[in-house]
Amino acid sequence: MVKVNGNYKSLKQNYLFANIAKKLSDYVEANPTAKIIKMGIGDVTQPLPKVVIDALVNASKEMGVKETFRGYAPDEQGYAFLKSKIADYYKNNSNVELSDREIFVSDGAKSDVANFTDLFSNDNTIIIPDPVYPVYMDSNLMLGRKIQLINGNDINGFLPMPTENLDGDIIYLCSPNNPTGAVYTKEQLQQWVDFAIDHNAIILFDAAYEAFIADPDLPRSIYEIPNAKKCAVEFCSLSKTAGFTGTRCGYTIVPESLMADGESLNKMWMRRQTTKFNGTAYIIQRAAEAVFTDEGLKACRTIIDYYRANAKIMTDTMSKLRIWHTGGFNSPYVWIKCGMDSWEYFDALLNDINVVGTPGSGFGRCGAGYFRLTAFNTTENTIEAMDRFSKLFK
Ligand code: PLP
Repeated sequence: MVKVNGNYKSLKQNYLFANIAKKLSDYVEANPTAKIIKMGIGDVTQPLPKVVIDALVNASKEMGVKETFRGYAPDEQGYAFLKSKIADYYKNNSNVELSDREIFVSDGAKSDVANFTDLFSNDNTIIIPDPVYPVYMDSNLMLGRKIQLINGNDINGFLPMPTENLDGDIIYLCSPNNPTGAVYTKEQLQQWVDFAIDHNAIILFDAAYEAFIADPDLPRSIYEIPNAKKCAVEFCSLSKTAGFTGTRCGYTIVPESLMADGESLNKMWMRRQTTKFNGTAYIIQRAAEAVFTDEGLKACRTIIDYYRANAKIMTDTMSKLRIWHTGGFNSPYVWIKCGMDSWEYFDALLNDINVVGTPGSGFGRCGAGYFRLTAFNTTENTIEAMDRFSKLFK
């Protein structure tokens, strides 16, 4: 008789966005003329830049011509034209040198973050910040692994740090963080790198929101930290950098010098990917290449600045209202303290000012009593939502 993976039973159903959608649709049914402003879902709203669309169209046309048609790529880990652009991006942004063998192009960070777990034995202890992007937790629970949560709170600014008693083998860090928008400094990341090296641990660093970092002193890649290539893998994505949530392209950096348990993780990831993944679509890689041209980067920067300006409107309002918050300046997320249960706060905002956000408790125990607002909206809606906040909390 077939036996299923019993670990799936230990997963909590993720009702967060389904609950939000249900509450919203009930409210709209009862109040059809309400002007709801949605600041809940972490998806981009601005269209792709023209240079990216042109690249998609040109690559699609190539696929219809015998001489330029492409089948399986010569290298499943990414075409050389894209890997060299990613390497240049790291050099220019973070002064980090990468060889093309360290860059693995994929269809996005979520699958790579979850699939990387394949490389480790199930008797590792996994260190996961709370609150955080739920994929880290669930992909490890699916394998029955022991999880050690490290608490984020208003005292540590939602940036938990290693402590003397902390022990574990695989450490997830997300900076800028989803949902809190908090960003580790170089000094803080150095402490994590030192901890990982001392404990023979590996850091899985999620840099999906690096493009939102505006403060030049904050690290956009963990490899800005000395010795990180000995202990860290980095996941990145064009989803938020370039509006690729529906287009799908990401990349994972696995340094050639990175060893675990006497094995090269670069070689193991290569083996895993060549066995289970056949590469990212050619046309998408051409679109991604266009993102990293001067024109593409400039266009993406304009869009990110637009979202960041929205985030500033939000943090300015929260400061004025003396509502404790973090995130915003270097992130599309603003994380606010509710002073009550996150879901009660959700109901109050929906009913009183028709603004929808995301209850922090949906991202972990330590998110209870907090609330996430996103800057992925129009400026007009952001201003209107903040006006409503000001009237409600004045
Ligand atoms: N990592 C974090 C922290 C995210 O918030 C998200 C998406 O919301 C992802 C990864 C997923 O990125 P992608 O769209 O490239 O799969």
